[in-house]
Amino acid sequence: MPASIDKLLKILQLEGNQFFYSDRAIIGGLEKLLPTWFQEATTDHLSDEIKTQISDALGKYSSLSPVERHQKVTALALFLKNTYPDDLRIAKSEAIIAKTVAKDLPPVQPPTRREESRPSTSTPAAKPQTYSPPAQTMPTGPGLGLDAPITVINGVGKETAKKYQNIGVKTLGDLLYYFPRRYDDYSQLKTINRLQYGDELTIIATVQSASSVNIKNKNQSRIEVVVSDGTGFLRLVFFRFGQDVARYYENQFKHGVQLVISGKVEMYLGRLQMRNPEWELLDRIHLNTNGIIPVYPLTAGLTQNEVRKDIHQVINFYSNKVPDFMPVETKRAANLIDLPVALHQIHYPNNHDLLNSARERLAFDEFFMLQLGVLQQKKNWQSGDAAKYTVSDEVFDSLTSHLPYELTNAQKRALTDIRQDLNSGKPMNRLLQGDVGSGKTVVAALAASIIASAEAQSAIMAPTSILAEQHYQTLVKLTTAMGETSPIQPDAVKLLTGDTSKAERELINTGLQDGSIKLLIGTHALIEDPVQFKHLQFVVIDEQHRFGVAQRAALRQKGETPHLLVMTATPIPRSLALTLYGDLDLSVMDELPAGRQPVETHVLHPLERERAYEMIHAQVKKGFQAFIIYPLIEKTENSSEEVKAAVDEHDLLQKTIFPDLKLGLLHGRMKPDEKEAVMKQFREKEFHILISTTVVEVGVDVPNATIMLIEGANRFGLAQLHQLRGRVGRAGNQSYCLLIPDTEDALENERLVVMTETNDGFVLAEKDLQQRGPGDFIGSRQSGFAELRLASISDIKTIEKSRSLAASLFESDPDLSKPDHALLKNQLTEFWKSTSTDLS
Ligand code: ADP
Ligand code: MG
Repeated sequence: MPASIDKLLKILQLEGNQFFYSDRAIIGGLEKLLPTWFQEATTDHLSDEIKTQISDALGKYSSLSPVERHQKVTALALFLKNTYPDDLRIAKSEAIIAKTVAKDLPPVQPPTRREESRPSTSTPAAKPQTYSPPAQTMPTGPGLGLDAPITVINGVGKETAKKYQNIGVKTLGDLLYYFPRRYDDYSQLKTINRLQYGDELTIIATVQSASSVNIKNKNQSRIEVVVSDGTGFLRLVFFRFGQDVARYYENQFKHGVQLVISGKVEMYLGRLQMRNPEWELLDRIHLNTNGIIPVYPLTAGLTQNEVRKDIHQVINFYSNKVPDFMPVETKRAANLIDLPVALHQIHYPNNHDLLNSARERLAFDEFFMLQLGVLQQKKNWQSGDAAKYTVSDEVFDSLTSHLPYELTNAQKRALTDIRQDLNSGKPMNRLLQGDVGSGKTVVAALAASIIASAEAQSAIMAPTSILAEQHYQTLVKLTTAMGETSPIQPDAVKLLTGDTSKAERELINTGLQDGSIKLLIGTHALIEDPVQFKHLQFVVIDEQHRFGVAQRAALRQKGETPHLLVMTATPIPRSLALTLYGDLDLSVMDELPAGRQPVETHVLHPLERERAYEMIHAQVKKGFQAFIIYPLIEKTENSSEEVKAAVDEHDLLQKTIFPDLKLGLLHGRMKPDEKEAVMKQFREKEFHILISTTVVEVGVDVPNATIMLIEGANRFGLAQLHQLRGRVGRAGNQSYCLLIPDTEDALENERLVVMTETNDGFVLAEKDLQQRGPGDFIGSRQSGFAELRLASISDIKTIEKSRSLAASLFESDPDLSKPDHALLKNQLTEFWKSTSTDLS
């Protein structure tokens, strides 16, 4: 093929692949290319027909619409290919361009040779490596080989594969689904004379000169490259370790070499420059410059450029061939782009719209799978029968009449739901969602009493030993209060945690097997230990977001189709709850016990800390207690100076601010029994102030605590702040929450301001969902859902769309047995394989 044709095809390809027919492949537009190109082409003796075709296609290029340009370029490329059919690469690019016409979507770039080496900006000592074109080793054929190990990729050997394994990537499919963490947007293209300080963009320019200087005492070199694009000159500066590397690097920049350069424009000594920009040769595929460039999460030893290169190969070979499992009617209804396009665009987006479409498609997939699985799970679960448990209203009322308080209406409603479930003959599968402090424990206790009245057993599993211990105390108290008529007597309640002694364990085992223990409370130990119940019929999982689906299933398996109640204080917006927990029926307790006053919340300037300390003093003087929360355990080297560390601060506060008070310390690195001891002391008022990390976040109930100071408050999510704040205001006394951010600008932090405006967990949750997407909520279920990667950045609309479409599909074909749904069925099995033991 003549060199001029080769060059032209590359430019056309660039125009399509990188610029999406925006006439930017050549500065000034493609038309500008023609005169010089024809001059260059004279040596190639092109026929008149070819010249006419070319000037016809590109003559008025700038005045065409993108669609017309697309057609012109495609037709021209096809024509040139037919005229010069000798080049495999061009043939491929052709085929892809042709396919694109049908879809009217941007093409996938064909594999081409990349430059001999790609010194990386992220590893200073990057060795020159050779990159040869992908050979025919990529598996092809019906199975597509997405399960093939990544070592089939050219340039990925055993060593690299090991590194990939660290980030969970083993197969080509894994790599295709290894999504960028973020993107660098270098899609803006400017000429040098228009550059401005702070711009992040791409320029196309020619090397004028290059030189390197050793930096004294540093084994480091500074390489300066001056480039020009005819409108001006720009200096590029690179820093490289080792003289060999530097010299090698310098030699890349030969005079006259055309580069595509992407980076941030900086000012140095009054002149603009770019420091360590990404760069590539103009006539090569651009993976690191000139577009919206993916930035992947990395692991030691893998560089950004390597990952880009490897993923790009996989996209080339596979993304177009991945079968789209989503039924056509669903795609149409949800307005989704095709899977192959989404997989390409999520890595190398042509523009922001396509990137959004790709994200939406892939997030939709995740929610859709989740929802289908959850619906199937519910169906399976409800196909079994369960024993009925019921007590008369008189018996029930006499139980509640012994409680130290009147139940709230919300508690009563939840109990009505639960009593109906217990008496339905089908296993209960209910989520009890109640804001912090709404009184879920007593609801669980009353349900367990109904079970015990028929001599059956219950278990409550809590995420921490602190909580398990606290529940144990509460339940012993409650059952004592309920008196002799209580179906659960205080000595029929037992506690099992990791710290339970061997002797006690044996006693518990005997009691469980002979049925004398009616209610067992514990941590993971409940499922990990070989405990055997005589007749476990009711399983309660507290703070359910701390447990995975598998753990829930494991506890359930200790009984024979037991009734299941899961409780959470994370107020999840209804739309999301229905999707994430669609397998569960929902009871919401949206009311706090009478007499509770909203916690007064203030955001304080870091300099107002003294005031916070005074308020704490004042509360302590009144006989109340305080929490002070810090974001980290110890000052670590790489964490910011301002981060307060609980351990250090404890000592400091004790000595300087509160020498007259008793301070306790609680953090996650303490052993469970140490934590327990501290909590117990705090509950028993042996400390005035508890200095703690977020280990107190979940469920801890110390009603005498009325003030909480949260340091570094800007570091916490809204849900977490709400959980933390929920540790105070748990009795009738006015309580306070003081939020001190660790930087001044965080005073305006939206989350902190919202905290001062409302105490309502559901309002906060809605705000969180609107502001930040469902990430946090999904995280809370994620323990069982490794497959959710993009769901967390999608919006409510996507969630609701996927839910309703999954529901209607499920209704029409619950077993996915229609031929149209075969691929979907496979995909669903894959999705749930590793995540759930519930699903059969
Ligand atoms: P959570 O829902 O956060 O788990 P708890 O069950 O720990 O809440 O209850 C919080 C506090 O409220 C406890 O001290 C409990 O004794 C008290 N409580 C529960 N129900 C009522 C009620 N109906 N009236 C008054 N206090 C209640
Ligand atoms: Mg609780």
